[in-house]
Amino acid sequence: MTNDSESLEISTLLAAAFGGAHGSVTPPIVQSSLFTFDSYQAFEDRMAGRSDTAIYTRVQNPTVAAFEALMATAEQGEAAVGFASGMAAISSTIIAFVKPGDRIACVEHAYPDSYRLFERLLRPFGVEISYHSIAALENDPDLLKGVKLAYLESPNSVVFEPMNLPKVAEHARRHGALTVIDNSWATPIFQNPLTLGIDIVVHSASKFISGHSDTVAGVVVSSNELINRIRDLSLSLLGGKLAPFEAFLLTRGLRTLDARMRQHQATANTFVDRLSNLPCVTRVHSPGANSVPGLRGRSGLMSFELDDSIDIPRLSDALSLFRLGVSWGGFESLILPARVALAQAGEENSMQRFGVSPSLMRISLGLENVDDLWADFESALSKSAA
Ligand SMILES: *Cc1c(COP(=O)(O)O)cnc(C)c1O
Repeated sequence: MTNDSESLEISTLLAAAFGGAHGSVTPPIVQSSLFTFDSYQAFEDRMAGRSDTAIYTRVQNPTVAAFEALMATAEQGEAAVGFASGMAAISSTIIAFVKPGDRIACVEHAYPDSYRLFERLLRPFGVEISYHSIAALENDPDLLKGVKLAYLESPNSVVFEPMNLPKVAEHARRHGALTVIDNSWATPIFQNPLTLGIDIVVHSASKFISGHSDTVAGVVVSSNELINRIRDLSLSLLGGKLAPFEAFLLTRGLRTLDARMRQHQATANTFVDRLSNLPCVTRVHSPGANSVPGLRGRSGLMSFELDDSIDIPRLSDALSLFRLGVSWGGFESLILPARVALAQAGEENSMQRFGVSPSLMRISLGLENVDDLWADFESALSKSAA
């Protein structure tokens, strides 16, 4: 069976991707640390780069490669490389391109652990970091002058402001700055930054890509040249590899990604409408389809701010379908009150630095029935007067 894959939608490509041994429709989990060779010549050819079979699972594994190939397809990149976590993907990408004395320009309200990576690990190594609002990144064509790497999120974390990526990518290209974006929120279903001029896409695959809250993983997608550099330097030498079983779970997640994102979007659209009509909700942060060029949908992670008629701890405890916890993108609905994150022990974090309101509440809308979720939310609100 052959298909002209150029003409197929992502959902079809992701569902149809496998034909394994014995007619299996899923990839085998190749749980082997090393791979042997039939002859001296085959071994030498591989070491000399004249063939490309797997040698050792730290750098290459067939199950991981199956996931990487799907991600490259989904993001319309040439190649992908999997990692043990989103943070391994982010740190390994940055370390492959940045050295002491270089400057990173980072969007405000980036994921808190990305901020900590910059402040606690890279700054002490002599890397300079500056933070910029989305408006400044979009509107100042010379902001990225002298910058080695622009670290972007669209939308950014916690306050979910979207960015005009083609515009920022164009400014970066003019100044020779490499652009890296965390696309975990939109997923390849709702946004393909490589097609908008961005150089490198990173994902926490622990979120929507896994979709089942059972895996911590990351992945990077880009050109062959940039992925080879990340693979040869940071994957190989820092060693944060994706495990075969996790890669298997991620290929399973990808098959339903399109269907899940549509369901998350439908629920999120309803929540945005209804939250916006509640007198106690002062702001809703959730960018929808076409709010910026290239954004095709609204995902299930959003936040909103409450006025002082609502007691946030009481609201949190009155909810039953929404559970209290970190992470997001799974089947289950979650809440994360900003004041819990702001209270994180003994440090200045990005939420404090960039002034997130203590009345903000982040919610991850899962795959439950939307009317059940809304009824739970309304009932909890009615019990939460301050
Ligand atoms: C969770 C998350 C990460 C980190 O990913 P891990 O898989 O937890 O290491 C990075 N970026 C964003 C936006 C996230 O939500």
